[in-house]
Amino acid sequence: MDLKNVKFILTATFITIVAALVIGSFTNNQLLIYIMLGFFAIFAAVYLIGWRCPKCKKHLGKLVVRRCKHCGHTLDV
Ligand SMILES: [Zn+2]
Repeated sequence: MDLKNVKFILTATFITIVAALVIGSFTNNQLLIYIMLGFFAIFAAVYLIGWRCPKCKKHLGKLVVRRCKHCGHTLDV
């Protein structure tokens, strides 16, 4: 998977989780909790599997990153 797509998915799911949290705290809708958990599962899976350096395949850690901390490879994100 392209690192740009990975970052897009992570950002989109994160915003959805935050939005569900905010809306959920106002409406007390239980369905939103399940939606939030579903998106959190997607976020966690994509973060753990997809958020890796394309060169050395090691995990990149935080989302705001310009180069790989392991091999110094400049990331196109
Ligand atoms: Zn690397």
